[in-house]
Amino acid sequence: MNVAFIGLGTMGAPMVRNLIKAGHTVTVYNRTPAKATAFAKETGANAVLSPQQAAEQADISITCVSDSADVEAVVLGDSGIIHGARPGSLVIDMSTISPGVTCHIAEVLKEKAIAMLDAPVSGGSEGAQQGTLSIMVGGAATDVERAMPVLNAMGSTITHVGPIGAGQITKAINQIIVAGTYWSVAEGMTLGLKAGLDMERVVQAVGSGAAGSWGLSHRSANMINHEYPLGFRVRLHRKDLAIALETARELGQPLPVAAYVEQMESSLMAKGYGDEDISAMARSVREMGGL
Ligand code: NAP
Repeated sequence: MNVAFIGLGTMGAPMVRNLIKAGHTVTVYNRTPAKATAFAKETGANAVLSPQQAAEQADISITCVSDSADVEAVVLGDSGIIHGARPGSLVIDMSTISPGVTCHIAEVLKEKAIAMLDAPVSGGSEGAQQGTLSIMVGGAATDVERAMPVLNAMGSTITHVGPIGAGQITKAINQIIVAGTYWSVAEGMTLGLKAGLDMERVVQAVGSGAAGSWGLSHRSANMINHEYPLGFRVRLHRKDLAIALETARELGQPLPVAAYVEQMESSLMAKGYGDEDISAMARSVREMGGL
């Protein structure tokens, strides 16, 4: 399939590698052009200078950029996908953004007979590299069906959760759960360190029981070593929790733990840690206990 891919960040770059590996022809655009040029040289992808140009030959145009305004810019902006994509083609947004903005973008695209799916992902940079992402898809069943050859190249669990926007609400739920589990892992690791335990053994002991989680298996080592390489940026997870809290306010549902972690992440950002991995939550817990 001819695929356009917009955004070669932590997630986008390995996702494109997997699309190429699966035999798709990929045209890439990245806001910082040097990144796209170097990537094209290394992978054989075709690099172009606007999302519009990328979409011109594409059956499917995929976006994986940062936030709601960024998806709006690359899809609906001056040299956005909407100006290049053919009627009948499909746009898949794999960023994590607001469900409301997603529905608005889909409506504007529909006026040009361009279909859209929201397909945010979970599984971290490792999942993107290994092609084992969990992909939560919102949109029409027929569009999900035609997207499967590309979604299968990037993920191992692809779930159609409902109409357009439902993927983003599912992702918000995912991020609420991540907030609580990471924070709890940080509390547990910090307590163990203060008690002077061998933390590798502690993780081994609790990891296969009821306390097991992705955060514990993949990120507790960061918390123990007090080093927080990416991963997933604190500023992006805070953005996701803001989306979850906004959706919860609209629905009249209090989310006290998500709200607390969002505030702790704001504090980490104010201290200059916004571009560290979210396991940096352990910084806040350590600081509380003077560790
Ligand atoms: P990232 O490493 O910060 O990369 C962001 C990408 O978006 C870069 O290519 C950036 O271009 C581009 N971009 C941002 N704003 C743009 C704009 N206005 N116009 C054009 N391009 C723009 O982020 P990431 O970790 O890959 O995350 C991408 C999305 O996936 C986010 O919505 C994030 O929440 C979600 N996600 C991330 C993870 C994870 O573990 N990292 C996991 C699940 C979901 P430049 O190179 O020019 O900056």
